[in-house]
Amino acid sequence: MRINLTCSFIFLKQKWYHFLYLYPFCMKKICYILPVYNEESNLQALYQDILKSIDNFTTKYAFEFLFIDDGSFDKSLTVLTTLAKKDDRVKIISFSRNFGHQAAITAGLKNTNADCAIIMDCDLQDPAYVATQMIQKWEEGFDIVYGRRKSRKDSFFKKFSSSVFYRFLNSLSQTKIPNDTGDFRLIDRKVIDSFNQINEKNRYIRGIFSYIGFTQTEVLYDRNKRLSGKTKYPLSKMLKLSIDGITSFSTVPLKLITQMGLLVSFASFAGITYVLIMKLLNPEQLVSGWTTLILAILFMGGIQLVMLGILGSYIGRIYIEVQNRPLYIISSIIEGTPNKASSKRL
Ligand code: UDP
Ligand code: MG
Repeated sequence: MRINLTCSFIFLKQKWYHFLYLYPFCMKKICYILPVYNEESNLQALYQDILKSIDNFTTKYAFEFLFIDDGSFDKSLTVLTTLAKKDDRVKIISFSRNFGHQAAITAGLKNTNADCAIIMDCDLQDPAYVATQMIQKWEEGFDIVYGRRKSRKDSFFKKFSSSVFYRFLNSLSQTKIPNDTGDFRLIDRKVIDSFNQINEKNRYIRGIFSYIGFTQTEVLYDRNKRLSGKTKYPLSKMLKLSIDGITSFSTVPLKLITQMGLLVSFASFAGITYVLIMKLLNPEQLVSGWTTLILAILFMGGIQLVMLGILGSYIGRIYIEVQNRPLYIISSIIEGTPNKASSKRL
């Protein structure tokens, strides 16, 4: 009772404008999750692009720019530290080595307490003004707002492979991933909380968001060219991500093994029947069978190796899950303060 009286007394003594300092704490907080791998030449432009786009929003929302340095070996971390020295909304999580784009996004989502997060690439392929359109959709009540590419300025191979892959994955999986989308999206706090409960190691994040559900909508946009530098997703990483996508969301390839086995057994049975009948009716014709024999052996060998490979990729996933190693290791966290960035080594 005494405490309450004291508090009331303190509050009565305040003028209305004394409470203005509480204003930033009442605003909704929006966090940009920005995975960085050797993007030194893009970071300054990205930061400016975001600042320009949120110009009319800063009185309404508190912003956080969470950069995850995924083991860059160029000057990305230095550029980011300079930004953090000027802007206390900048926070940097630095990994001990390169753990991959999906791990970087995961670390970002684990380390923010914002009301919603916007996941964006750092090469300006995802335009910042589209993110503000996502914020408007979020205010209309959508929990996930993903960017869908109306057009994209990528290589023919990238465009073709990704469009084929999405359609292929959707035909295999019950969890449907919207075509022509990437990780560029806004997600509400409740989606972040659900996401953070998922402990999968080989993750395919855009699939996980489809799996999580909630109300989802899209914003159409034209995907720019990368501002500078080369893609950090070479063919090997793209293949790994595609296999992760398929094995995380479908067991159809495993069922395919049985179907393939049945088909080949049926064909062999037909072949055996044919050979036996020929042996009885016309034994001389059977002498020259070398080519057929070799073809059959090679065909069976090939099929068996492919099937073993499919089994192996699922077993490999189980192995990695059982090992239960951390998805990433943080070497330092740098929190921006005006004129001074404080670094915490872990
Ligand atoms: N990235 C990352 N770790 C990696 C690969 C990429 O953090 O191992 C970041 C990269 O810096 C960029 C984003 O993930 O901000 C998407 O990568 P990129 O633009 O190279 O992919 P693309 O658009 O070519 O598919
Ligand atoms: Mg890119």
